[in-house]
Amino acid sequence: MEMEIDDTPKPKGEETKGKPIVVILVGAPGSGKSTFCEQVMASSTRPWVRICQDTIGNGKSGTKAQCLKSAASALNDGKSVFIDRCNLDREQRAEFLKLGNPNVDVHAVVLDLPAKLCTSRSVKRTGHEGNLQGGKAAAVVNRMLQKKEFPKLSEGFTRITFCQNESDVQAAHNTYSALGPLDTLPNGSFGQKNPDAKIQLGIMRFLKKVEVPANTVSDANSIQSSVSHKNTEEKQPSYKGHNNISSFSGNASKELKEGENLAVYSSGSHASLNNAPTLAFPSISTSDFQFNLEKASDIIVEVVEEYVNKLGSARLVLVDVSHKSKILSLVKTKAAQKNIELNKFFTFVGDITKLYSVGGLRCNVIANAANWRLKPGGGGVNAAIFNAAGPALEVATKEQAKSLHPGKAVVVPLPSTSPLFSREGVTHVIHVLGPNMNQHRPNCLNNDYIKGCQILREAYTSLFEGFASTIKTQGKLAKVSNENLDSNSSGAQEVIEGANTKHSPNNDQKSKREHEHEYDRSKKCKGSQDEIGANIPESKIGKVDKNNDKIDGSMAKAWGSWAQALHKIAMHPQIHKDVALEISDDVVVLNDLYPKARRHLLVLARSEGLDRLADVSKDHLQLLKTMHDVGLKWAEKFLQEDVSLIFRLGYHSVPSMRQLHLHVISQDFDSKNLKHKKHWNSFNTAFFLDSVDVLEEVSCHGKATLRDDESLLSMELRCHRCRSAQPNIPRLKSHISNCRAPFPPSLLQNSRLVLAPCNAGIDP
Ligand code: AMP
Repeated sequence: MEMEIDDTPKPKGEETKGKPIVVILVGAPGSGKSTFCEQVMASSTRPWVRICQDTIGNGKSGTKAQCLKSAASALNDGKSVFIDRCNLDREQRAEFLKLGNPNVDVHAVVLDLPAKLCTSRSVKRTGHEGNLQGGKAAAVVNRMLQKKEFPKLSEGFTRITFCQNESDVQAAHNTYSALGPLDTLPNGSFGQKNPDAKIQLGIMRFLKKVEVPANTVSDANSIQSSVSHKNTEEKQPSYKGHNNISSFSGNASKELKEGENLAVYSSGSHASLNNAPTLAFPSISTSDFQFNLEKASDIIVEVVEEYVNKLGSARLVLVDVSHKSKILSLVKTKAAQKNIELNKFFTFVGDITKLYSVGGLRCNVIANAANWRLKPGGGGVNAAIFNAAGPALEVATKEQAKSLHPGKAVVVPLPSTSPLFSREGVTHVIHVLGPNMNQHRPNCLNNDYIKGCQILREAYTSLFEGFASTIKTQGKLAKVSNENLDSNSSGAQEVIEGANTKHSPNNDQKSKREHEHEYDRSKKCKGSQDEIGANIPESKIGKVDKNNDKIDGSMAKAWGSWAQALHKIAMHPQIHKDVALEISDDVVVLNDLYPKARRHLLVLARSEGLDRLADVSKDHLQLLKTMHDVGLKWAEKFLQEDVSLIFRLGYHSVPSMRQLHLHVISQDFDSKNLKHKKHWNSFNTAFFLDSVDVLEEVSCHGKATLRDDESLLSMELRCHRCRSAQPNIPRLKSHISNCRAPFPPSLLQNSRLVLAPCNAGIDP
């Protein structure tokens, strides 16, 4: 059975100019529309404007006509637009759809979350822009939901994303956040549970005159049942099923017109696979080293079969750049014969250095068919990966190993400065060296396939062990899976272990602590960008699936790759010397990349496993004191340069970035990066814990009391000095630039504010 559903994004190279898009949010009050927009806007590189009828009239409620006018003007300026209103029925949406034209696509993001959840959120919230909160909210939510009419492609949308739970919302958020100014997303309807899918596909075929392969429609359901694979926001390109093993293609399908690729997936109840740790690997030794393809494919399938279960729901993806790849088709067929689950292993046609940006496939780890010198050059995958990763990979590789023996692999954490990290989301490259059967290359095995097969098997084993170690480092494997992995050491351990000592705890106790810690953290989803505005508190994420208590990375969702930057800097400050202001054994000091005030530093703890304040115990008291003292020293330095500054030192109750860090922030909040309510509230509500208080609490009680209450971040905006309420960020900014009222008494006590000595004694 051959099935093909193509969701291929347009290759980037073919675009010269980005298309603005209109995204119409559809959802009841309390479904998280505004949060969705704010979070995407906080992390996206695409210019966005959020249009909300509740605030369109100078911060006050306005009319639909005003919304339309401002949307049209934003589009004219090349900005993309979120229409943040309920838009629950067709009529409501119709006028906004007219904003679409050949140069502007209109998408819908449907936040179809349980009515109960929307109601309870709306009732509980405070400071809502439209003042829909408290008792009256419940009735309104109910009334609106009764009229709900799901959007359809036939209304004129080019893309519809249905989100039925928090992990869907997270996936949609990731997709839109990652959408750069020049990127486009594939057309189609994603994530709808009901079987309307077939009809939708029919409509698309009719509207777009797309030649959909004959079996697509009839196979739509079998994808759901055989794959048990919900729609993810991942841009999964063409899907060809052979029995039950799949092949995805990152290249545009010939049958479909450019830009008219189409996908309809059905949504299941599984958590998104989109976030599952994924290793993309090329076939080792079959190209340049001319290893026999039949033998190589047997070995790949054999080792994959051994590892898929040990890796929990992590995915392995065999990648080849060519559609005609013989090794891909051999492996696909053999894997199908062995009934290997296709949500854990599949093949993919695409460039391994552009899997996400062009192929839409998220792979946090990629393998490189390296040369023994671990140097750039040659051709094929090695050259492509070193080129795409930039010099950062060479430097990072050197830190791990100088050379590689056949059959071995070395895991290299990729610095966040590498384009492969920032563009593709790759956190690790694993170099692997296979056997050589090519007489024109050094160390040829002269057709000795006994030895060759042994080395090739060893190479894949080392590779998958290396991948497992990256998951373990991130605490992403269930304890059960860990036990399996621990008991199975490969012949490639020296190099793998050598690499890991720097990145993962290598003693039992530490490792255990890390896993326990990760289990604990897994209840919270760290699913967001680099700023607190993008942080998603627990209540917004959904809990770990109770039936899936063998929690692994994909289900438990640990820190996203974007949340690792500070951790990486703290672990490898030497590589990040350019950004570090100070490096010591205990801390690294750096400027906040998105400062929310004139002076905004971060003091990072360097201890492994200390991801956030919740991990802190009495044992860390000395470290906290050091962090405080270092922060204070820097604040004092800045105060010498500018006596008018006032500093606060503290922690976010729930940080968005991994690795315990102290904010040292001047109280002018004069920064273009301070854009959202959440930014402000994260520094100006109880969510921000003063370092002095943390020290006292940890010293007295062994831990700090966290205020990880989501509502703190969406509280009304209030001046941090006079406490007056402000309707929106621009008004707040303009107010605080003039407000000279003294700070509230709570801040004036206990040295929570740090002032220039010449101002001591004056009410700041
Ligand atoms: P938190 O919400 O406490 O985790 O704050 C994380 C801080 O890290 C935010 O203020 C971000 O602006 C900042 N940030 C994000 N990425 C980086 C980076 N690569 N380097 C320095 N600061 C960063």
